[in-house]
Amino acid sequence: MKRGLVWFTEDLRLDDNETLLKAIEENEEVLPVYFWAEHETKSQFGILRIGDTRKEFIQESLANLQQQLHAIGGSLLVLSGSPEDLMTDLCKQFGIRKVYAKKQVGSEEKSTQLLVKQRLLEISVDFETYSTSTLFHPDDLPFSVRDIPLLFTKFRKLAEKESIVRSPFNPPERIAVPPFEQFPIERTSSSKPAWLQGGEGHALQRLHYFIWESQAVKTYKETRDQLAGLDFSTKFSAWLSQGCISPRRIYSEIKRFEQQVLANDSTYWVIFELLWRDFFRFSFKKYPKAYFQLHGLDQHARYTHFDERKFEAWTQGRTSEALINAGMNELRETGFVSNRMRQILASYWVFGMQQDWRYGAAWFEYCLVDYDVASNWGNWAYIAGVGNDNRGGREFNVEKQALLYDKDGSYLALWGTNGNFNV
Ligand SMILES: Cc1cc2nc3c(=O)[nH]c(=O)nc-3n(C[C@H](O)[C@H](O)[C@H](O)COP(=O)(O)OP(=O)(O)OC[C@H]3O[C@@H](n4cnc5c(N)ncnc54)[C@H](O)[C@@H]3O)c2cc1C
Repeated sequence: MKRGLVWFTEDLRLDDNETLLKAIEENEEVLPVYFWAEHETKSQFGILRIGDTRKEFIQESLANLQQQLHAIGGSLLVLSGSPEDLMTDLCKQFGIRKVYAKKQVGSEEKSTQLLVKQRLLEISVDFETYSTSTLFHPDDLPFSVRDIPLLFTKFRKLAEKESIVRSPFNPPERIAVPPFEQFPIERTSSSKPAWLQGGEGHALQRLHYFIWESQAVKTYKETRDQLAGLDFSTKFSAWLSQGCISPRRIYSEIKRFEQQVLANDSTYWVIFELLWRDFFRFSFKKYPKAYFQLHGLDQHARYTHFDERKFEAWTQGRTSEALINAGMNELRETGFVSNRMRQILASYWVFGMQQDWRYGAAWFEYCLVDYDVASNWGNWAYIAGVGNDNRGGREFNVEKQALLYDKDGSYLALWGTNGNFNV
């Protein structure tokens, strides 16, 4: 009996999942597995890596994946522990001949994959990875990832001119799995908002709603800088980060909408933003470690200090700036803030409080439901002036930003605190 194992990571979906399809195609039975690793670890900055909002979102996504697999005759095995420790025994126990996985982006995740691959080699089990998380497939880019341009605009223009986005694969109709005992998926309870429900089902619902039902996609470019509300931006990020939805599925729906209803700057702009996401992911392949270093991509970080009191004030929403406090409160409570607010908060930590940018990035890593290693560290490095930019960073004037984006004070009314103090 030919048996394969699909190692799910940030690809928690059936739709447009080449890894899963290949495993089904090449084997009589497939074992779908997710490793729930020890999450209470801290980064080198002494900050926990994951908060409750993201934990809950991932657990919901796993439960949904399990349901989706049940519907086509399968199931999902969720194991507590790390793949390095568990994979080889699992393969021996189930007589697995090949392991299939999504290609990883972050340097630590890549090292784990390499280690697993080496251990599997020792027991003669094959290991294959697939690029399933970007809009452009890396093989289709008009340059090798090593030669990716430093600046986004150059990358975008080359990719748009000389590459095509592949069509998404349809989900599998059947899967045969070996018998195994299914353990209940742990459930964390958090204060994330009701609309942020993990899982492919919710992701596809949101896609349908944003493009077809509300048609909010028609005005995205004008609304995307707002601070509050549900439909001013797509809200696809958390689903994209856990792979509950594929960027190629989003792309193909937008193209369908453009053909059937309307194509304008706004419909294009969602794709433009997905290209930013691709850009950071590909750039991470070129510089796997640099995005975690103070001087980033060989540039000069203006501020190198870390003051614990300032960090406490910033993270707890107790700085002298009401807008910053409101943003940090929303982030802490919900695990989500708009792109505009992320920029303001990050800029204030780096230039307003004059601190080592990486502590800010590590705090976002802990808080964000949609945390994605490349998008988070890539954007932070960019704002701090040590990333894919040559303009020395983004220093915003907070009062000006408040006037531009919260003129009527409604965001402050929603998330503001009164107890400000100067640091
Ligand atoms: C300091 C900072 C940290 C960030 N950390 C993350 C993170 O950990 N995870 C994450 O997904 N995004 C991150 N972003 C990017 C962006 O803020 C979020 O993707 C966006 O706010 C999510 O809301 P949305 O899905 O409604 O985005 P929309 O505006 O609707 O955009 C559509 C999609 O495009 C992608 N996108 C949009 N803007 C960016 C961008 N600047 N960089 C990369 N991709 C983008 C996202 O996948 C997003 O879902 C960060 C931005 C900043 C400034």
